[in-house]
Amino acid sequence: MVEKRRLICISCPVGCELDVTLDDGKIIEVEGNSCKLGLDYAEQEIFDPRRMVASTVRVKNGFHPLVPVYTEKPIPKPRIFEVLAELQDIELEAPVAVNDVVIENVLDTGINVIASRDMPKV
Ligand code: SF4
Repeated sequence: MVEKRRLICISCPVGCELDVTLDDGKIIEVEGNSCKLGLDYAEQEIFDPRRMVASTVRVKNGFHPLVPVYTEKPIPKPRIFEVLAELQDIELEAPVAVNDVVIENVLDTGINVIASRDMPKV
């Protein structure tokens, strides 16, 4: 069965609109890309879509009650809510330093969640 998908390539600021044609789940044509990265993006986005996740976690005895965190690399899109649920259950102890690992190998993805700023103790 032939299926059409429209994507916007986010590999660079140009943001090409990609028209992707699939046949029986296989990409048979990509149009609209200005370079090869668009082809790689279409393949990644269709077969293994991933996103960076940014959120906050609670900090005990911190200058602020929350510290911002993010995934070091994009994680599989279907697992975003599981990552957010894990983060909800965490409470760090101040002080927290920028780049501290908050969760190592989150959900066995091989990706760490790290703090994106310092959070000193009060
Ligand atoms: S296809 Fe190439 S030029 Fe177009 S947005 Fe993607 S990376 Fe940029």
